[in-house]
Amino acid sequence: MRVAVPRETAPGERRVALVPETVSKLTGAGFEIRVERGAGVAAGFLDDAYAKFGAELSEGGSLYEGAAAVVRVARPSAEEIVAVPQGCVLIGFLQPLTDQEGIARLAAHGVVGFAMESIPRITRAQPMDALSSQATVAGYKAVLIAADHVQKLFPMLMTAAGTIAPVRALVIGAGVAGLQAIATARRLGAVVSSFDVRPAVREQVESLGASFLDLGVVGEETAGGYATELTPEQQAQQQTALEERIPDFDVVITTAAVPGRPAPKLIPTSAVERMQPGSVIVDLAAETGGNCELTVPGEVVERGGVSIVGTTNLPSLMAYHASQLYSRNVASLLQHLAPQGELALDWEDEITAGACVTRPAETAP
Ligand code: NAD
Repeated sequence: MRVAVPRETAPGERRVALVPETVSKLTGAGFEIRVERGAGVAAGFLDDAYAKFGAELSEGGSLYEGAAAVVRVARPSAEEIVAVPQGCVLIGFLQPLTDQEGIARLAAHGVVGFAMESIPRITRAQPMDALSSQATVAGYKAVLIAADHVQKLFPMLMTAAGTIAPVRALVIGAGVAGLQAIATARRLGAVVSSFDVRPAVREQVESLGASFLDLGVVGEETAGGYATELTPEQQAQQQTALEERIPDFDVVITTAAVPGRPAPKLIPTSAVERMQPGSVIVDLAAETGGNCELTVPGEVVERGGVSIVGTTNLPSLMAYHASQLYSRNVASLLQHLAPQGELALDWEDEITAGACVTRPAETAP
């Protein structure tokens, strides 16, 4: 079965869907991998490495010839969809909950779309869980960005010039990204607190050496482990409680999200105005509107000396390792869909059926 790997074209996207190491594993398992020239360059993977590990390099025009699957990171543009052969499997972050138009285009073109976001978060599917692998990278990078902006050193230092107190960091939302942010901030020496509406995470927060900040707001958790949206009253209560506590922190990293919904607004302008000048908020939810009222997606803004970082797509800023992890997720999904090196789509299977977002009528059960 031939798999095509195009060069990503979304603005700012540096990742690549398969790295040479995974190409070698897949060719060993009977796959034929065709990579567009330059596809891995922005992530640090050169064409020569792909060739050495068994990929065939191709120019854009011939990339999709004979391809049974196309693997990518970001969703394809309208022009890119047209280039994909009909009936072909397409794997990537297809944004099924927020890009209905794109999904409709894929369906109209007769593509069998598998969205990495829709892979059920069950134990069996963990090797394919790209939301987790990329959130891990984002959580790590968020702390480094915070460390770069804050006007303080993270660790406590005892020097001849006296003692410096450690940074106090607050991580809001202790999912995959939040837990990695806690661990990273702790490694840099910060004193870390964290808050989440899912009470189950208290233990995980504490096991990383952070303290759980009790804001008196407890939300619901779905069977899949996600938070549900708070009621307007709970949200107002959370904003008020945060406004009171937030001046204690030099660094605030927010990761709160509810799948398919705009990010909950947790930090009102009035709370930012109470923070110390030189503090920083890194808003990992910027892409879905931000957890802070002042966040501008893709930009860093300043208010009263407080930096509010709305940089989006943090995994792309660590494209080498982000691609390596994503590539392993993609390879696991490919091998799940084609266990013997040829597509064998089992629509009774929870992962196959769950991840599929468009399929032509003839492949329907
Ligand atoms: P996410 O990105 O959807 O959300 C990030 C965090 O924000 C979550 O912890 C959520 O509870 C929190 N949040 C939502 N609204 C909030 C609010 N108003 N205030 C504060 N926090 C708020 O979540 P995620 O990190 O992708 O994953 C969430 C959970 O999914 C995990 O912690 C885990 O339980 C589950 N999961 C399971 C598997 C598996 O394979 N079994 C894998 C990964 C994740």
